[in-house]
Amino acid sequence: MTQTSTPPVTGYGSTILKIALVMLAVEVLIMLGFYWFDVRLPDWKLALVDAGLLAIVVAAIAYFAFVRPKDRQIREVMAALEEARLHAENLARFDLLTGVLSRRAIFEALDAEVARARRYNMALSCLMIDLDRFKVFNDTYGHQYGDKVLQHIVQVISAHCRTNDSLGRYGGEEFLILLPETRIGSATTFAERVRSEVAKTSLDHVKERVTVSIGVAEWRDGDNSASRLISRADQALFEAKATGRNCIRASQPV
Ligand code: GH3
Ligand code: MG
Ligand code: MG
Repeated sequence: MTQTSTPPVTGYGSTILKIALVMLAVEVLIMLGFYWFDVRLPDWKLALVDAGLLAIVVAAIAYFAFVRPKDRQIREVMAALEEARLHAENLARFDLLTGVLSRRAIFEALDAEVARARRYNMALSCLMIDLDRFKVFNDTYGHQYGDKVLQHIVQVISAHCRTNDSLGRYGGEEFLILLPETRIGSATTFAERVRSEVAKTSLDHVKERVTVSIGVAEWRDGDNSASRLISRADQALFEAKATGRNCIRASQPV
């Protein structure tokens, strides 16, 4: 969802106005004081007071006539720029079709989670999910229906993720889930739940069910980069496909 915020404006105009109003009030008080105590000023001092009052009135008129409208224009332009910036950020961050994290964003999240796992010596697991025989599905029912099914399956998967988990599109019909603070045992249980929920999902207009294969891997102490974790999950996914699909495989004994 796009959020807009009103950016701060320089505020010189309103500061000038405030100073002018304070000066005006002071001048009026001084004039009242003169009147009250019946003080007679020489003409040149009176002329100075008049000039001061005149300058303040001119400053106030100039502010309302020119500065304030410009301030509003600047604020509107800055709000539009901020909205455009957020929109561009959302386009880069979220996958257009499914709404989950884009490939770039899920890899950023992966780097951040790996850094956290290293620093605090915490567990981190990851799931690589691939829809089974999706090409045949597309060829049979068309790409547009395939797109809808992809969106629907992603919703089913996303409904099972916890708040701290990150779900992103790795590419095509492949998705990654990062499970912070999760050992491979729990990650495998979670993967099996995701697999069985997808397999149970009925689709509009077609009798067939879509299934997924999932590879599970856990970050290991010896891993020196996030790509090691991904390649183990990928290898486990490959084994799941080779075993017959609609199943999960973990990259090491549970
Ligand atoms: P496997 O079980 O081995 O994964 O078989 P598969 O057919 O799913 O795998 P393959 O790599 O041969 O084909 C992937 C298919 O996924 C082909 C492509 O049309 C489809 N696909 C990828 N992205 C999208 C998408 O955004 N929308 C639709 N409708 N289809 C997509
Ligand atoms: Mg596939
Ligand atoms: Mg694939």
